[in-house]
Amino acid sequence: MPELPEVETVRRGLQPVMEGARFVRVEARRPDLRRPLPKEFVKRLEGRSVTGLGRRAKYLLADLSSGDVLLMHLGMSGSFRVSEEQGEKTPGDFHHPRSDDRTHDHIVFHMSSGARISFNDPRRFGLMLLVPRVELPEHPLMKEIGPEPLGNAFDAALLAGACHRKKTSLKAALSDQKVVAGLGNIYVCEALHRALLSPKRTASTIATRTGAPNERAERLVDAVKAVLGDAIKAGGSSLRDHRRTDGELGYFQHHFRVYDREGAKCVTPGCKGTVKRIVQGGRSTFFCPVCQK
Ligand SMILES: [Zn+2]
Repeated sequence: MPELPEVETVRRGLQPVMEGARFVRVEARRPDLRRPLPKEFVKRLEGRSVTGLGRRAKYLLADLSSGDVLLMHLGMSGSFRVSEEQGEKTPGDFHHPRSDDRTHDHIVFHMSSGARISFNDPRRFGLMLLVPRVELPEHPLMKEIGPEPLGNAFDAALLAGACHRKKTSLKAALSDQKVVAGLGNIYVCEALHRALLSPKRTASTIATRTGAPNERAERLVDAVKAVLGDAIKAGGSSLRDHRRTDGELGYFQHHFRVYDREGAKCVTPGCKGTVKRIVQGGRSTFFCPVCQK
């Protein structure tokens, strides 16, 4: 499942060929992905231009000149391949190897920028919807999403406020999309390690009794922002490195401190611990039981 940094990298890869460009021709090669495509999908896109390409959590949001928003989600296995005269690239490929089997190119956008953008999705958990811009904030997929972790609104006070009555683990709280948007298993593990906080700690312990943030909440917010920022930076650099499209495990993999590193030596300076794997809520958690308190 792609996480926020990968989706943001995809957005940055698509932005130059989509923003300001018009859909000249749209091919919908099947009637559905995870859900049926919207009624008159092709007709509502062709001839329209993209006025902006944004992101909310793990959704890509293309604002159209018609007033609709094209909402796109990669699902489990979705990717976009951009073909231009100078070659092809798959933004976001740095993390998960992507399918190159053209029989899974379900939707193709021919843009006035000259780019052909193919949406490839072997498992078809991806999503494309058209929603009038004015209805977007109240849309069922958007309404419940918590604050953007890289936005200014996401700070220690907000996170502490969201956690102070939670008796769940800190890992579960950070994975809750209503608490913070777009964080998945990998970056929750990485952020907790960087903040030196145990994933097993009760969520409410990052707040005082009145719900104000304590020093742990400050550390955790800084760690979340740093981990995501670094991942996006790594994705951006891999986009410029064409050797990265070899389908090997991505560039950023080597930068994980705990994720998928069970048994490895902890990288926290001065720590003699070893990365341990436990299962929480059915998912693997990687952490260092020595320095993460
Ligand atoms: Zn450690």
